[in-house]
Amino acid sequence: MPESYDILVIGGGIHGCGIAQHAAASGYKTRLIEMNTIASGTSSQSTKLIHGGLRYLEQVNLKLVYEGLAEREHLLRLAPDLVSREWFYIPVYASSKRPAWMIGAGLLLYWLLSGGRSRFKRVPQRLWSAVLPGLNKKDLKAILAYEDAATDDAALTRAVAASASSFGCVISEHTKLEKAKHDGEIWRVTLAHGEEITTKILINATGAWVNRVSKHIKPAPLQQSLRLVQGSHLMLNRTCPGFIYTESLDGRVMFFRPWQGKTLAGTTETTVTGNPANIKPTADEISHILGTYNHYFPDSPCRKTDIIGTYCGLRVLPESENGAFSASRETVLLCDDETEPSYIAVYGGKLTTYRKESERVLKLIAKSIKAPRKIDTKQIPLSAAGPTM
Ligand SMILES: Cc1cc2nc3c(=O)[nH]c(=O)nc-3n(C[C@H](O)[C@H](O)[C@H](O)COP(=O)(O)OP(=O)(O)OC[C@H]3O[C@@H](n4cnc5c(N)ncnc54)[C@H](O)[C@@H]3O)c2cc1C
Repeated sequence: MPESYDILVIGGGIHGCGIAQHAAASGYKTRLIEMNTIASGTSSQSTKLIHGGLRYLEQVNLKLVYEGLAEREHLLRLAPDLVSREWFYIPVYASSKRPAWMIGAGLLLYWLLSGGRSRFKRVPQRLWSAVLPGLNKKDLKAILAYEDAATDDAALTRAVAASASSFGCVISEHTKLEKAKHDGEIWRVTLAHGEEITTKILINATGAWVNRVSKHIKPAPLQQSLRLVQGSHLMLNRTCPGFIYTESLDGRVMFFRPWQGKTLAGTTETTVTGNPANIKPTADEISHILGTYNHYFPDSPCRKTDIIGTYCGLRVLPESENGAFSASRETVLLCDDETEPSYIAVYGGKLTTYRKESERVLKLIAKSIKAPRKIDTKQIPLSAAGPTM
């Protein structure tokens, strides 16, 4: 007899792990399958920030920012060894696209949306060299600073997976979905190594692979047309003086942040089409990031030989007329039946808001199978050392 589950989650990124944690803690018999290892996809390739996203204020997406900031506070409390509050510095030059008063107004709004938990200030000129040593001072008009949070994305994802496992979720790495067929009652699922299982609910949380995976599912599920936009980071052989929020050479946002004692610089936005598994930074992306770094730190310029590592992840964005920079970062949940779903697919989203999105998924699942117990993931601590309950 094939093993039967209430919920099968495909994909061991932050969304799959978050959904599996909430499901298992609610008492559903849950299994998660991941074709590689936990956090091997985009959830280890991000800028590793837990934030509302200052730049989404420009899109006037106040809901996204508000939710992100609220989730940031929950994660700071739930995972103190994985998420830390940090000061972020914004240097403003005579040539900056956004003047200091405009950034100041944005920081005030960010502070309000965070319920006063994102303090901000103007760094006095006499402290510029001490705060950001090596920063280009030519035509520098101001340095603004605000509070946000940072994490280790892969470690956070693994901590959520460990929490799911502690509630009884079966987690199978190196286990790919081969095919799934709904027979009207239940999903009959074949895994790549030949194992057959059944599940009442199927969750497609495969990030950039979401539409590829849905091709193996019958009846063919509803799909959202999407654009995959690659974001690259370079790890530079330089000590990073702090978390720095800058404009890149083309006026988009670029971060320099400390990472493993060095500087992580990024990101970029390059639309890609091929297999999500085969992405790597392009020559243009590399020279764009290096050019921006060298513009801000002209006294210790980096060459290609100073690149000691690269990260490359894929944003899942809705197909739109606008560029990737202005496309919505909100998560879209698609299901086969709004009133009694048996299949739910997760599109897009942010690392920061995974817990809230998992809550939304569990509310949908409860329409089909009532949760054995009511839980609140805001009360479940997370730790790099494993579950602490
Ligand atoms: C460059 C970049 C920077 C970002 N920075 C931030 C940031 O600073 N803060 C923030 O909040 N968000 C950030 N994000 C967004 C965030 O990283 C993503 O939204 C999130 O990591 C996506 O997680 P996921 O679980 O949906 O997908 P993934 O992490 O990609 O997980 C999907 C998993 O599914 C698996 N899979 C695929 N097919 C199958 C199959 N057939 N069977 C089994 N498993 C399968 C894959 O191996 C993969 O591990 C960033 C994104 C990018 C691209």
